[in-house]
Amino acid sequence: MSLIQQLVTLHRVDSQFRALEGRLDAARETLTSQERQLAVLSKQTDDMRSQERQLKTTIHALEVEVASNGARVEKLRGELNASANEKAYKSIILELKHLEENKKKVDDQTLGEMQRLEELQKRVLDQLAKAAERQRFCDIAKTELEERKQEVGARLEELRAERARAASSIPERERKLFDATADSTDGEAMAAVSEISRRHREYSCSACNIEMPFEAVLRLTSDQNTIFQCRACGRILFLEDALRDSIAPAPAKK
Ligand SMILES: [Zn+2]
Repeated sequence: MSLIQQLVTLHRVDSQFRALEGRLDAARETLTSQERQLAVLSKQTDDMRSQERQLKTTIHALEVEVASNGARVEKLRGELNASANEKAYKSIILELKHLEENKKKVDDQTLGEMQRLEELQKRVLDQLAKAAERQRFCDIAKTELEERKQEVGARLEELRAERARAASSIPERERKLFDATADSTDGEAMAAVSEISRRHREYSCSACNIEMPFEAVLRLTSDQNTIFQCRACGRILFLEDALRDSIAPAPAKK
């Protein structure tokens, strides 16, 4: 088998392999993207939970303050009735007034913090619903990936072995060139030559449609062991058997 024939064989297996692998990769990417989004949501939920804990701590501290404020008020009221002189009386009244103002301030603050807590808790619920939905998408993506692995896994391994076999007889330099071209063309390393007009000797690369000089076509008919790449798209060119036989130069036909 000539080098070009070997490459065409490799190309057929390689493009099947890449197409199947592409299906698996697509499923993997979907899952990764869903998992990434879920992780973002979880991180946000954690942050909200920690804000929630802080708010509860603040509210608790404020409640403790109100309670001790109230206890002090009770005590002062008792002392008020028993106050010995006017100076003591006035001083208690002053402190009571101060405590009352403080209670109002703390009550307002508590109310504000409780509103914040309530809003935050609504957002947490919202967030949990979003995370649950995202988790469902994740599960679906996981199932799809597993199904796809089952579908194509065995065939993919067969093709991998077949590809290695097809590649084994090709010299390293040419194989590397093939691989690099396949990588850069999404698995379309090779392109057949299209005949546009035999009379006008017009031929083109079937992948990118650029016209190619007739001399290049002739070279392909006579030399089956050298790689010729399309000067526009870089794909490795080959002639389908029927076309090659029909345009082969006269001496080859004898
Ligand atoms: Zn081309």
